[in-house]
Amino acid sequence: MRHNDRDTQVVVPQSMLPDIAGLERPELETLLREQGIEPYHARQLFRWIFRRGVTDFDRMTDLSKTLRSRLADLVSITTPAVAGREQSQDGTTKILLELADHRRIESVFIPDSPGQTFCISTQVGCAMKCAFCLTGKMGLTRNLTAAEIAGQVRVLARELDLLSTRFNIVLMGMGEPLHNYDETMKALRILGDGEGLAVSPRRVTISTVGVVPALERLAQEPYMPNLAVSLHATTERQRDLLVPLNRKYNIAEVIDACRRFPIKRRNRITFEYVMLAGVNDSPEDARRLVRLLNGIRSKVNLIPLNEAAGIPFARPSDARVDEFARILADHHLTVSVRKSRGRDIRAACGQLIVEGPTRSAGQKLAAAMEG
Ligand code: SAH
Repeated sequence: MRHNDRDTQVVVPQSMLPDIAGLERPELETLLREQGIEPYHARQLFRWIFRRGVTDFDRMTDLSKTLRSRLADLVSITTPAVAGREQSQDGTTKILLELADHRRIESVFIPDSPGQTFCISTQVGCAMKCAFCLTGKMGLTRNLTAAEIAGQVRVLARELDLLSTRFNIVLMGMGEPLHNYDETMKALRILGDGEGLAVSPRRVTISTVGVVPALERLAQEPYMPNLAVSLHATTERQRDLLVPLNRKYNIAEVIDACRRFPIKRRNRITFEYVMLAGVNDSPEDARRLVRLLNGIRSKVNLIPLNEAAGIPFARPSDARVDEFARILADHHLTVSVRKSRGRDIRAACGQLIVEGPTRSAGQKLAAAMEG
């Protein structure tokens, strides 16, 4: 099932012209105004680019021919190029994208979960180095721009023929969204624009390891997505080892920030908890988790580890996961067990890793152990 990306011809759009794919509509209006173009054309451009997936000015038929050619001379619209596509037996589709600087990222489409869900990356690699995550092994190459984050959604919607369908977006691909705060939030505002894809914040989930100052900023945002916090442990010592950022922002501070977080009515914070056999999956862990979350409107999403070569942990048995879930449920916590999707194509949580021309030490290690 694995594609050979060396065989794929990739045409990367390269242009020296300003890229409007990463502009919010008011910014685009300003740019147009500065060029003596009526700012209301920004609305038409948003409809073409985001709602219809058209980036070729020539095809924007409600703009005059003169305006189309002026725009083509003035600005560019950069879109990540599809460099590979793999489909899992369960319908999950992983799309490998190449960016203008030839860096590669992955985005995943998860159908019927129950809705249609796009799992989007926010960075090339990740700096968080969580002990059980393959992406973490890559290290951080760079942040994605708002154009690249929103661009993934445009490409997935186009490739999967979902431009006119409602879909959810989870920022659970490669990277830590709150470690690339400004570009991530900008991308969400662009995707939320009513003239474009109009993705409501209720259909967007930011998943974070808990960068506390960024959580505090998020709490003030007008565009307020759902929040998922990757907790994974119930003692500081345990979390220090699993999620290195805990040494900077520990469980107590993360939970405190969650308590202060303005949760909308009828909404809750999701706490993600990767289950590692013999590490954090005991009944005592479950009871500590209940105590930690006491008083927070929360739900717990248990994620049995997706095992991978190079990851020194094992997935607990289903019985062990069920027992853990039962304890949470008995204490009136809402709990779900994440079904692993796309494991056969390495598209499941924590399995996104890009084998580009330049492989990191972590990737080489993982590949060597697999081979
Ligand atoms: N950086 C963000 C988003 C990343 S991934 C975050 O940490 O929340 C989304 C979820 O997948 C996180 O909860 C992450 O901890 C989890 N994950 C990472 N590696 C995993 C693995 N091997 N198996 C199962 N879940 C994993």
